[in-house]
Amino acid sequence: MSPFERRALGGGAHALVSVELERAGFLAAFAERTGGTSGAPFRSLNVSFSVGDDPNAVATNRGRVTRAFGIRSFAVPGLVHGTTILPIGPARAGDGFLGPADALHAADGLQTKRAGLPLAGFSADCVIAVMAAPAEGRVALVHAGWRGMAAGILQKAAALFGDPGQVMVAVGPAIGPCHYEVGEDVARAVDAASPAGAVTERRDGHRYLDLVATTAAILGELGVRRVQDTGLCTACEAGRFFSFRNEGSTGRHLALAMRLE
Ligand SMILES: [Zn+2]
Repeated sequence: MSPFERRALGGGAHALVSVELERAGFLAAFAERTGGTSGAPFRSLNVSFSVGDDPNAVATNRGRVTRAFGIRSFAVPGLVHGTTILPIGPARAGDGFLGPADALHAADGLQTKRAGLPLAGFSADCVIAVMAAPAEGRVALVHAGWRGMAAGILQKAAALFGDPGQVMVAVGPAIGPCHYEVGEDVARAVDAASPAGAVTERRDGHRYLDLVATTAAILGELGVRRVQDTGLCTACEAGRFFSFRNEGSTGRHLALAMRLE
């Protein structure tokens, strides 16, 4: 059984919600690409202002999801494949929601202990991991492609928490080893970042990186062992998720994290 429940958000939109994290007092939701207003190649629930889509469509799409979750906005990291994880308080609660100008540019992760402050992340192949510790009350959302993993963003995220053994992690849909061929330089860079190493497969003389399994391995090596994932590859599931590797110019799907009231 999947640890995620697929919920209808209205208008043909859906999100995968972690049941275990919700029981523990946290929202960890991964929206699918259907049910939005964007045209091709962003069809249809694209939430990124930075990919060339019509800004009005993006704003409508964002509003559709926030309404479905009963929130008014979310904080948006700039997503630059770095390792900065910014703390979010009330002053930054909706930064980047209405447009890219006030997004939290240098950040690839956000974290807070405050209830009711939604954190967002966008991706089209990269891992988005929502991490939460109920006793501590902290929730973090991090964006990690191979560059972020090689630079150590997952280690930085784990270090935010007092007790790694208490951290629960929900990993969203990402490109799988079925589709993610990488060069030896990429595999080596991820490999060097952690004693856990990169999880890769070799087929027909090519190397394929498993971003989700690598995430679990890096976190597991640090004592974070409660990691769940959707088992879905963004390139295999082209009708449900955006895949940059598969489509080139395309949209980004939304991940949301929040400590519930
Ligand atoms: Zn695949």
